[in-house]
Amino acid sequence: MIELPERPSRPMDGTAWGKQMEVVFLGTAGYHPNETRHTSCVMIPEMGIVLDAGTGFFRVRQHLRATTLTILLSHLHLDHVDGLTYLLDVLWEKPVEAVTIHGPPGVEYLRHGLFETPLFPLPLTYPVSPVPEEGMEIAGARVTARLLPHPGGSLAYRLDWPDRSLAYVTDTTASLDYAEFVRGVDLLIHECAFPDRMEARARETGHSWTSAVSELALAAGAKRLILTHTNPLDPRPDPVELDAARVCFPGVVVAHDGMAVVV
Ligand SMILES: [Zn+2]
Ligand SMILES: [Zn+2]
Repeated sequence: MIELPERPSRPMDGTAWGKQMEVVFLGTAGYHPNETRHTSCVMIPEMGIVLDAGTGFFRVRQHLRATTLTILLSHLHLDHVDGLTYLLDVLWEKPVEAVTIHGPPGVEYLRHGLFETPLFPLPLTYPVSPVPEEGMEIAGARVTARLLPHPGGSLAYRLDWPDRSLAYVTDTTASLDYAEFVRGVDLLIHECAFPDRMEARARETGHSWTSAVSELALAAGAKRLILTHTNPLDPRPDPVELDAARVCFPGVVVAHDGMAVVV
């Protein structure tokens, strides 16, 4: 059982969510859970936005504050979508009025790929649609997406508010090819499945290694870098061997389940 940290106090300025915006990591492992990490899920509670729905998605329930829930999926690999089958419990007796699911082209496959007999007893009743090419507005954020290389492709997301921004990039091999897409973000959340010594394994599986991610973050002028989607076979608190990233991005940290940061 992992205790989630206290929600930081936040000055309110009359806007819908105040001056600070909390980002909570609910699942930080790639592929499968281990004793301390569930699979990919990141939530912005004030906005009711969830990035990916791995097994960490069950924790969304305790962070529901908005009356809408928008789920943005990077791709349909199971470690990013299997938590959708927990929605019945996540929403049970919660005052959430609308749930919307967006993802890459073909995301509608989830309806029959995950929510039909014999895999699941009930149909998925919420709208599911690809992110429009021109992007969309969600809870005051301009949301844009870019398809990146990964077996089957993976969508990177960028969320821009008038005074802050973040990007969520997972399940791809880090490169400068998309540096412009994440240019200058206040927070770059990027996958880092493997340390540098496992670069070959990362390339083989369509994932990233530590120094490649930090070089991208530096080149793109990201203000903060948090690494996630780590190798579940490695139980250490620092499975990505951060020293390799600190060479060019000294403030980099690796996420853990329950971590909350303010943007
Ligand atoms: Zn994954
Ligand atoms: Zn994947």
